[in-house]
Amino acid sequence: MEQLLHELAALIGPTHVLTDPADTEPHAVDWRGRYHGRPLAVALPGSTAEVAALVALCRDRGIAIVPQGGNTSTCGGATPDGSGRQLVVNLRRLRAVRRLDPDNNSLTVEAGLTLAEVQALAEGAGRLFPLSLASEGSCQIGGNLSTNAGGLAVLRYGTMRELTLGLEVVLPDGQVLDALRGLRKDTSGLDVKQLFIGAEGQLGLITAATLKLFPLPTARATAWVGVDSARTAIAWLAALQAAFGDRLTTFELISEVCQKLLDHHHPGQLPFVAPWALLIELSDSGETAALEERLVNWLSEQAMVDGVMAQSESERQRLWQLREALSETQKRDGPSIKHDIGVPTSMIPAFLEQCGQALKTAFPGVRIVAFGHAGDGNLHYNVSRTRPDPAALFDDEPAVNAIVYEWVDRFGGTLAAEHGVGQLKTPWLERYKDPAALALMRGIKQLLDPRGLMNPGKWLAP
Ligand SMILES: Cc1cc2nc3c(=O)[nH]c(=O)nc-3n(C[C@H](O)[C@H](O)[C@H](O)COP(=O)(O)OP(=O)(O)OC[C@H]3O[C@@H](n4cnc5c(N)ncnc54)[C@H](O)[C@@H]3O)c2cc1C
Repeated sequence: MEQLLHELAALIGPTHVLTDPADTEPHAVDWRGRYHGRPLAVALPGSTAEVAALVALCRDRGIAIVPQGGNTSTCGGATPDGSGRQLVVNLRRLRAVRRLDPDNNSLTVEAGLTLAEVQALAEGAGRLFPLSLASEGSCQIGGNLSTNAGGLAVLRYGTMRELTLGLEVVLPDGQVLDALRGLRKDTSGLDVKQLFIGAEGQLGLITAATLKLFPLPTARATAWVGVDSARTAIAWLAALQAAFGDRLTTFELISEVCQKLLDHHHPGQLPFVAPWALLIELSDSGETAALEERLVNWLSEQAMVDGVMAQSESERQRLWQLREALSETQKRDGPSIKHDIGVPTSMIPAFLEQCGQALKTAFPGVRIVAFGHAGDGNLHYNVSRTRPDPAALFDDEPAVNAIVYEWVDRFGGTLAAEHGVGQLKTPWLERYKDPAALALMRGIKQLLDPRGLMNPGKWLAP
């Protein structure tokens, strides 16, 4: 291993191969602190050529690579195992802006830029890059692509898959796949870049991407509204879409338990507590006042428990901060068994009722923290207090997951609608994913990475 580290240092520079545990520790543990690994080292290559040389070296030496971006995965996707033999390759030094083309509404950047940096670059050119997540200050474009990240504006703009025109990828054999063209139409064969979006670093290292930009909206109307039930909320979704078309950009559902958590940890910030709250945002060209008036008129005809409209940009930010604070707030409140499930939007109320009832029957006193991107059918459905001793929570994880994923499956849903599979959901994928789809994915893995050196120990074994 000493020899390999010397060769790595010669390829990418000795200061870019971290071996001191004080330096490698932040890369060895996941965001939630659930997975602790021990990497051989952490490599920080600075260009696509360096990544390709490093991958070729690892291929020749049979060294496994764990690709890593901002390390904000909540399912242990970017964490090495404890063997001390896996090399973490963090892409944060790949920071070049290769091409900003406002007339083509596209931006080509390297994988190590954070999402927030990409949003700012687009905005500087009078454009919008619409992906938006609470982790946007830390997560990197390469990580966003590899998890097919969604977030707060998927309803209107889609996930990372829909936002990507081209990719550059270093394949497991060290070849560079150049699929970086900024085209919206290309019928010259299969669209191979799609293989790497959502692959969680198991098929290669993404080094650059050409991303879609959009006109910057000039008008926004944002409301925080209380409704009596999840059924009412979902009825509103269809009604809002009928009234406002794709101006409906955000439709977030927040349970009463979540609101109380926010109220407890951020006193005085929440406008009110209701059985369910909705964060609704419309965006458009034109004047904000006109859009707000349309939303106010629409809301005034609905039966709601309470509601506030953001009257200024700072009020809008305050409402957004409440929504974005939910993950952190819950983390501060103690551990929970996390799920980022998806079901058809029409099924959300029945899922909440029936899965909630099944959990309460199995674990009287259970606390369910449900919130998320209801407009996309995607909910964070986090379970805690399964028994009086909080330290024993994770003993109940298999039983809780069995209930939750069974109900997700009954409603035609998915066990990973947002954060990917990582290590956390690997055992469940086998049970609930279509066998033919799994076999096809494994065939692709076998073709590209027959020795299983790319992010081993996750869900896509060869
Ligand atoms: C507070 C909080 C809120 C969040 N909200 C959302 C949300 O709303 N929507 C959402 O989708 N996710 C959300 N996430 C999850 C997470 O931020 C996303 O999955 C994000 O896309 C991961 O990016 P990252 O750079 O941190 O990737 P990492 O965590 O570093 O890696 C994630 C996966 O991608 C692989 N990978 C990373 N970089 C590369 C690369 N260059 N090439 C190949 N593979 C690579 C890793 O091996 C790993 O499998 C949230 C997380 C937190 C902590």
